[in-house]
Amino acid sequence: MKIRLAADLQMDSIVDGEGIRTVIWTQGCPHHCKGCHNPETWAYDQGIEVDVEEVKKELSQLEGQDGITLSGGDPLEQVDACIEICKHAKKLGMNVWCYTGYLYEEVQNDPEKKKILPYIDVLVDGPFILEERSLDLYFKGSRNQRVIDVPESLKEQKVCLVSKYAKEKDVFSRYQKEKGIFV
Ligand code: SF4
Repeated sequence: MKIRLAADLQMDSIVDGEGIRTVIWTQGCPHHCKGCHNPETWAYDQGIEVDVEEVKKELSQLEGQDGITLSGGDPLEQVDACIEICKHAKKLGMNVWCYTGYLYEEVQNDPEKKKILPYIDVLVDGPFILEERSLDLYFKGSRNQRVIDVPESLKEQKVCLVSKYAKEKDVFSRYQKEKGIFV
C-alpha cells in the first residue's frame, strides 16, 4: 500500500501533541482554509509517494519518541494507509494524535474514515479559521478546533474533549452550531 507524503518523517516535535513526537506530513487536503500554514500540501499529485512498509520500518527504528502525529494535508484523505501506520505505531507502544480539517461528527458519519477512530488517541478536528486564530491555544491553531479524547468519545458515544486543553468551549460551540452540530 502506498501513501503520499508532503515531507520526510519529522522526529522530536514538541508542538504537534503531547511529549516528543514524530510527525507524518501527509499530502492532499480538500479544505483549503484561508491562512493555512501548509498550502503546498493541498495538491493530491504533489509530494512523494512512498510505501507504507517503508514508513513502518522508519518508525520501528526510532528512539525516544512518545508517539506519532498524523498531520498534513488531511491524513483522513488517505485513511487506509494511515490506519496501517497507526496499527504499527500502537504495536510499538506509541500513542497517536491526528489533525484533520473534518469535524469529528463528519468522520463518524463516514463509513470509511470512521474506521481509523479506534487507533487514534487524540483527534484535533475542524478547519483552521483565520478569524478564530489565537497563539494562546494548546496544540491547535484556531478556537473552533477541538482536542478530542477519542477513546472516551467512542465509549461515551459523544464528543469528549481532553479536559486540560478545553478552555474555549463557547467559541467552538458557536462554530459547530453554525454547522448544525451541537456539543
Ligand atoms: S485542513 Fe489543515 S492543511 Fe488543510 S487547508 Fe486547513 S489548515 Fe491547511
